Amino acid sequence: MSRLVYLDGKLVPKDQAVVSVFDHGFLYGDGVFEGIRCYSGVIFKLKEHIERLYASANSIMMKIPMTPEEMEKAHVDTVAANGLKDAYIRTIVSRGKGDLGLDPRKCPVPTVVIIADSITLFPGAMYDQGVKMITSAVRRTAVDAHNAQVKSLNYLNSIQAKIAAIQAGVAESLMLNAEGYVAEGVGENFFIVKDNVLITPPRHAGILTGITRQTIMDIAGEDGYKVSETMITLHDVYSADEAFMCGTAAEIMPVVEVDLRTIGAGVPGPITKKLMGRFHEVAKTIGTRVIYNA
Ligand code: PMP
Repeated sequence: MSRLVYLDGKLVPKDQAVVSVFDHGFLYGDGVFEGIRCYSGVIFKLKEHIERLYASANSIMMKIPMTPEEMEKAHVDTVAANGLKDAYIRTIVSRGKGDLGLDPRKCPVPTVVIIADSITLFPGAMYDQGVKMITSAVRRTAVDAHNAQVKSLNYLNSIQAKIAAIQAGVAESLMLNAEGYVAEGVGENFFIVKDNVLITPPRHAGILTGITRQTIMDIAGEDGYKVSETMITLHDVYSADEAFMCGTAAEIMPVVEVDLRTIGAGVPGPITKKLMGRFHEVAKTIGTRVIYNA
């Protein structure tokens, strides 16, 4: 069955899901997006993702042409129409079709796209072995330049950091903020574990406060671990007992080496492994259930 893509209110076959080259999302990266997962027919934290999508749009003064409730239904319908129980969903709202100038007033109607498909960021074996990272020379953008909290269609500094990782022959890059403190991965948040405490950079480190990050903080808290949102340096990373990155697409990925320094025992740590198991248990229980037609 050909995939059906939601495009401006209609479900259309994948190869007919096309957007104008005059769309400012294409011309200028002017727009916002979300990456969402569906586990066993439950769209994980869909309401939280939609809330973040509308917050991102509001920040760039773009009015999404439907209500959050309509947006939620469009997601459920798109997953159901494709008969998917497990899926990766990509939601894009771009400024819409305009002319060859920056002025967003020339784009009367934002374009809304919802794609339900699958994603594999890393081969399965990497989750058992853990991955190596390097620190990218490209920093996160300053919050007063391009705030990572706005999940915009501009991911160029992340892409440059990804290229640096590929060239170094490692799985992913760790990105610092302008002050040199650890911020996050290219599309993942970052945690270290030291003396049984989970430590992750705070919002003011200039990160996207991820939905997976929050879920891990909640699970860890329920399991009796202390969680601290604290600025960390590369020295803290190099001397951590465990490290992992997390995000909707990556889920929880153990990190066993950073900048050629072995982290802890050089294998996925016990707390990381426990959290990976717990995350998969809870992920299919929190969210919006898809109703499939018989
Ligand atoms: N940081 C960045 C820069 C991201 O793009 C993402 C997800 N795409 C994350 C962190 C993780 O956020 P979430 O857990 O909400 O997917």
